[in-house]
Amino acid sequence: MYHALWGSEAERQAIAPEDRPYAISISEFGAQLQALRENGIAVLDPKCLESGAPERGGVILTFDDGHASNAVHALPALQALNMHAAFFVTTGFVGTKAGFCTWPQVRSLADAGMTVGGHGHSHRFISGLDYATQRDELFGSHSLLERELGRPVRQMSFPGGRCDAASRKTAREAGFSVLYASKVGTIAAAEAAQAAAPLPRIAVRPGMAHPTFVAYARGSMPRMVRARAASHLKDMAKRLMGNERYHQLYTRLKG
Ligand SMILES: [Zn+2]
Repeated sequence: MYHALWGSEAERQAIAPEDRPYAISISEFGAQLQALRENGIAVLDPKCLESGAPERGGVILTFDDGHASNAVHALPALQALNMHAAFFVTTGFVGTKAGFCTWPQVRSLADAGMTVGGHGHSHRFISGLDYATQRDELFGSHSLLERELGRPVRQMSFPGGRCDAASRKTAREAGFSVLYASKVGTIAAAEAAQAAAPLPRIAVRPGMAHPTFVAYARGSMPRMVRARAASHLKDMAKRLMGNERYHQLYTRLKG
């Protein structure tokens, strides 16, 4: 799971402080793509999840939020290696918020064969919302994406990774059949397309050591167990404090 990429210190500084802890340089991103290739780790086309189970294991690369750098930096880097990724776009940011994609940029991702999916309309955490507001966020972003792209949209990731059974149900009603959260882990290729639970993901943060990145990409169990223990502690804090308050504290600490 990636977010924004940056090509210069000025670009890094232009990223909102709360998004900066997830932003990585294009050289680091390029080195990670090379590491996947050199280690023989398959980068699967996310669309393979829409038509039954993938034939083999591998990784799926995803980008959350719809930063302009996804179209400017990630797209050419992926195309150079003939790799595909999924871009989950917060529709309310498109063409309105500085630093985020315009509709022509989102269309350039889809036209290049990338998977473009939903990430809510306003980036509110879906699981804390009443049903009517969940519908606004999920049906609204889904129909807007399909209208602007002129093609079916089947995949989405939940803002903040937060989702529960009710929000997953609303997402499926809206037309999203492949759902991603931010729970750390791996999933068997045979189960990935039919999974009742959303797909797990691993956040790639700046400065992640190369062997660590490769271990995650290989699905190394000791690595996952350690990362899962850390994320359980975070989940516990979220439950105790409530989603919104946790996020405020988290962004304050990270920002
Ligand atoms: Zn997000």
